[in-house]
Parts: sequence; C-alpha cells; structure tokens
Amino acid sequence: MVYDHQNMRRRLSLKCCLIWFGIPLTIWLTFNLFSWHLKLSADWNQPNRLKLRARKTLLIRRDNQKKGHEGESPKFEQQCESLSEVFNKALVKRYNLTVLHSLGVVLSPEDQKLRDEGYQKFAFNALISDKIGFHRAVPDTRDPKCRDVRFPSTDLDVSIVICFFNEQPSALLRTVYSIIDQTPTELLKEIILVDDSSTLDDISCQIETYVNQHLKNVKFVRTPERQGLIRARVFGANHASGKVLVFLDSHCEVNIDWLEPLLLRISHDPHTVVVPVIDMINHDTMEYQSSPLVRGGFNWGLHFRWDQLPASEQNDPELGSKPIQSPSMAGGLFAMRRDYFHHLGEYDLGMDIWGGENLEISFRIWMCGGRLEIIPCSRVGHIFRKRRPYGNPEGGDTLIRNSLRVAHVWMDEYKEHFLKQRPQAEHIDYGDVSDRVSLRKRLSCKSFQWYLKNIYPEQVVPGQVNTGDINPHFPRNHNKKEPVVIKHGQLTHAASGLCVQSEKKTYTKKALLTLAQCDKETMDGQKSQMWYETVDNQLLLAQLLCLDVESGMVGMSYARLMKCHGSRGSQAWTWTNKDGISVLYNPASGKCLTVTAATVGGNLFLDLCTGTKGQAFRLS
Ligand code: UDP
Ligand code: MN
Repeated sequence: MVYDHQNMRRRLSLKCCLIWFGIPLTIWLTFNLFSWHLKLSADWNQPNRLKLRARKTLLIRRDNQKKGHEGESPKFEQQCESLSEVFNKALVKRYNLTVLHSLGVVLSPEDQKLRDEGYQKFAFNALISDKIGFHRAVPDTRDPKCRDVRFPSTDLDVSIVICFFNEQPSALLRTVYSIIDQTPTELLKEIILVDDSSTLDDISCQIETYVNQHLKNVKFVRTPERQGLIRARVFGANHASGKVLVFLDSHCEVNIDWLEPLLLRISHDPHTVVVPVIDMINHDTMEYQSSPLVRGGFNWGLHFRWDQLPASEQNDPELGSKPIQSPSMAGGLFAMRRDYFHHLGEYDLGMDIWGGENLEISFRIWMCGGRLEIIPCSRVGHIFRKRRPYGNPEGGDTLIRNSLRVAHVWMDEYKEHFLKQRPQAEHIDYGDVSDRVSLRKRLSCKSFQWYLKNIYPEQVVPGQVNTGDINPHFPRNHNKKEPVVIKHGQLTHAASGLCVQSEKKTYTKKALLTLAQCDKETMDGQKSQMWYETVDNQLLLAQLLCLDVESGMVGMSYARLMKCHGSRGSQAWTWTNKDGISVLYNPASGKCLTVTAATVGGNLFLDLCTGTKGQAFRLS
C-alpha cells in the first residue's frame, strides 16, 4: 500500500506536471510552428522568390557575425562599429578645391594605406571621401532659370533603388544622406539599398549595421548571390512600394531640388522616363563639377556616347531649363513610374554584371511608345572612375555579350552594323532571347528603322551618308578644354639649381622625369626643358604632354609624362607654400614633387609634403 500510495502520488505529480508544463509547451510549439509556416508562405508569396533565399543568406551572415561578437573574430566587430563612431556627424559643409586638396594630403602611413587600398578596391580617392564624411553641400550647378520654377504638389512618391557591389562606405552613405538632406520627406517613400553580395564582408557588415541602427527609411536587402547590376536593380525594384522608381549608382550626390523636376515631368506623362544631368565628381579630388548639356547617343559598336545637342535645341531660349529629348541614356541614374517599369518589361534578366542594359532600355522606351528625356533642372553628381574595380566572376566581357542580346532583340537588320564593328561577337553565346522577342511583340513595339528616323536622325548609318562611324556632332572629351597657359619657363629644383626634363623625347608618353643641367638654349626655342603652366594647374612639357603621376600604385610613385586628359586629378599641380618653401602639390596623390638624389640624372618622385629642400621648385 505504502508502495501503492507512493505510486499514486508519483502518478498524481506526473499528471500535474503534464497539465502545468506539457499543455503550455504544446501550445507554444504549435504556435511557433504555425507562425514559422505563415512567415515562410508570406515570403514565398513575394513577387520574387529570390527574396526568401536572400533572407536566409542574411540570417546565416548575421549568425556568423554573432559568433564574431562572442570572441571568435573581434576585429570584425570593431570594424562594424567604427563606421557609426567616425562618421555620424550631421555637418553640412561646403568644400572648395583648396580645402579638398588639403584633405587629400597624405600625412601618415595610415593615410597612405587608406588611399592606396581605396584606389585598388574602389578606383577613387577614399582618403578624401572619408574625410568629407557623410554630408556635404555641393555647388548649385543648375541654370539660374531653374531657380524660379515652382513645383505644384503631386501624389507621386518615390522608392530610390541603389545597388552596390563592394562600395566604399563613406561614398555610399554620402549618396544616401545627400538624398535624405535634399528630398522633401513627403516625396520620399523609401530608399532601398541592394547589396549585390559584396565580397568585401567587413564593408557589407559595416553598412548593414549602420543602416539598421541609424536610418529608418532605408531598407537594406542583399541578393542571394552576385547578380550583376541589371538583375540587382530588378531585385531592388521588387522590394519597392513607391509610385515612382528612381535608380541611382552607389557613389552619387544629389543636388538641390533634384527630384521635383523629374516628378513634374512624370506627372504630366506617365510614359516619360527622365534622367537628371549627371554632374562629375572627380575621382581623385572629389570635386563636384558641373557637366555641359549634352544628350545620349551610341556608336555602332554599341558603346554609349555623349552627343552635342542638335542646333534647334541649342538655339532655344529656354535651353537650360527645358527637358531635352534624348535617344539614349547613360544608364545609372533615371526615374520612371514603377507600374510602367514593370509594364515595359523591367530589364533583360539574361544580361550579366554590367553594360548594354542602358541602350536596351532606351531602345525599348522609344520603340514601345514611351519618351526619354534629360531634365536640366535636375542635377546629380556621380563619381566617374577611370576603371571599374570589379570583374565578372564567370570571366568574359559582359558588355559585348549583353550588347549582342540588344542587337538580336531590338535592332532588326541594323544589327549587321554592330556585328561588323565587333567581329569577335560572332563566336559568343548570347543565350536565349526568346522572352525578350515575345515582349517586343506583346508591346507592339516599332521598328529600329522608325527609331533611327524619328528619334536619332543625326546618327550616321554606315553606307548611307558616309561609310565611317563618325558622328560629326560627337563632342569627344566634352570636358577637355584647350589649355590656357598662364606662365612658362624652366622648372628648376631650387637647392641644386638643376632643371627638370624628360628622360626620353618630349613627346614620349610614360617617360619618367629627371634632373639635368639647365640648358641655356631652352630660352631660345629649344623646348626640352620648357614647361607651360595652365589655368587648370597642368604642367605641360614643350606644350605636348602633361606632368602626371603613376596613380593607384602602392608604395613609391613616380612623376611621368602622359597625354593631357583635361580633368585635373593626377595632372593638377598647385604651388603651395610649405614653411617658406615653394612646393608642387599633386592633389590626386596627396603628395608633393620630390627629388631624392639632387644630382644630374636623379629621378622625380611623389612623396609626403614635408617642405624639405628636395621639394623646393620654381618655374621661371
Ligand atoms: N553594381 C552592382 N553589381 C555589380 C556591378 C555593379 O550592384 O555586379 C553596382 C555598382 O556598385 C554601382 C552600379 O551598379 O552602384 C553601377 O556600376 P558602376 O558604377 O561600376 O558603373 P559605371 O558608373 O562605371 O558605368
Ligand atoms: Mn557608377
């Protein structure tokens, strides 16, 4: 009995346990299972299935980060935190060129490392970008006529999609903050940052952490795997809810009242796609420079190019404030209604990484009943880089493959001109384009001939007007000016009294510079030591080549002669007084012209600006 009694008590307490713990446990488990299922199906119901995979990838990454936080990789955590510590300053400052130059001075090995690695990873001056931080006021580059335009209120709001792959954090966050600083809140529905599976994990983590902590209106999403900018944009657009989509590159700064004129135009005609004037942010100095009014075109190799405006536009008294019809767009920056973007077939998802999509969407807009316009009162700066610092993980030239798809879907018999220009394209497998061909049919799009005749009559068709592919209106290097000389003479190294000349002929590109006995005859017409200083701070030897720097090199950089490119940067030399000594400062490298061996034959380098005798020069 005792035993029985004990047994009963045991059974009773077991029952109690079951009632008190078991039932709530079951309810809790069922609830969790149910909500997990709900979440899963909600995700699968999203327009893009990639989304769920993206979330999973994100969760995995977060998990890894957490592990790092617990001590496995404390370095990772510090890097994530430092972004908010260093840059969370809401200062809106103006930076003139002199200030930008001073920000670029390399003061320490850390500066040097930041600068060199920046050029390697991002192909622009990360040292200056970081020193500017997340906010700055850029010059108002609009035509004065734009300042009087009043914008009626609109029911349009925008989702801004910014895709990035391994972007420099301060440039990316300056893009985001410039939008926040310059856009009326009622127009800005959201900013969608699409990390296209950046491979620089620390940067990716820093940006995501910062955005989640500080920026309420910014959605951070990540593609499940590298998609390339074309598919990444569609991925971003599928997360958007605003009436209008604006696409921007991840290294832009928007100007005053940039959005209103774009929206005004779209509100008048829902089938107009609008592009701001793309101002130039110099990749060496971060200087914000105004761009001339030009429009988009292309050559038969399907390279985008800027064309001069037709005479009719140029003589229009409203030039500068009136929309300009454009045959094509550069691609990175534009706005269109979201429903129209989807209706018009988004992008060709068969295109990889970079290139060609801008002409594809331009042809599609015009041929399928829309309009494409540049809006001069809207200005957005973009860092134009000399090279793209990333490749295609699968190898191969994505521009040519993507262009082949454009040619086969949109160009009818005119594709032959492309194939003639790019014979190597013939052997490239451009994949299946049948979906895009059906799209063209479904939208009842016009022919390429119609497009050329009505939208781009200035385009020279090989064999029709002349056989060349030269457009007489094409302003090559539209920002390249004739050099205006303000001073000339010999460039003398003060301490040794020796003169700077080329190691080779004055017209030999890439030649290094060296010290030589000053040649008296130079003054009588011999040009080998004659330097010309221009208003744009160039130094030309014999009025031929420009004094330049081997840029982007880690470690020692040499001075050398290169073809003048006319966009300052590595070819700008400013006379700066350093402790009473006149030094030549090169803003792109953040360093000064230096000789280490002040003897005949000694080479010229770039070194930290110390103001020592090796850096004292004069032009006389
Ligand atoms: N980009 C991307 N995935 C890629 C390549 C580029 O998301 O695989 C982004 C890139 O970070 C940038 C935009 O797409 O924000 C346009 O690329 P990029 O600036 O290199 O083109 P460019 O301005 O030189 O034509
Ligand atoms: Mn870009």
